Amino acid sequence: MDYGKKMVRHIPTCLECGDKIRYGRTDKKFCCDDCRNRHYNNIAKGSRTFRRKVLAMLSRNYAVLNELLRSGATSVDVMDAVTMGFVPGVMTACRKSGRHEEFSCFDIRYIMTNTRIYSISKIQNVYLPLHSGTKKE
Ligand SMILES: [Zn+2]
Repeated sequence: MDYGKKMVRHIPTCLECGDKIRYGRTDKKFCCDDCRNRHYNNIAKGSRTFRRKVLAMLSRNYAVLNELLRSGATSVDVMDAVTMGFVPGVMTACRKSGRHEEFSCFDIRYIMTNTRIYSISKIQNVYLPLHSGTKKE
């Protein structure tokens, strides 16, 4: 390639509609305000949809774990839990417990290996600091 001979002027394209942006600063990202607004609205919408999906999965996981506890079970095969609607990768907290990872789904905690979920139990005395970082004397 002979960069020296042909200097192609870079014409930016609108991130939303893909049209060439022929006027204005060369670092402009959108052809018009409508496209800019649409672009950021779609990002916000995608973020909201993502959060809604995660919350739905957490609720489903909680329902599955709660159902197991109510039936008196404290362990289950991961595949059986998945059949019940459990999504293994979604949790509200995770910490190292001995050789294993202990997970929480809201106030229910459990240990999960590749094949088994066990030690399912409700966390007693759930304490949520309402003003984290502030100390009352
Ligand atoms: Zn545009």
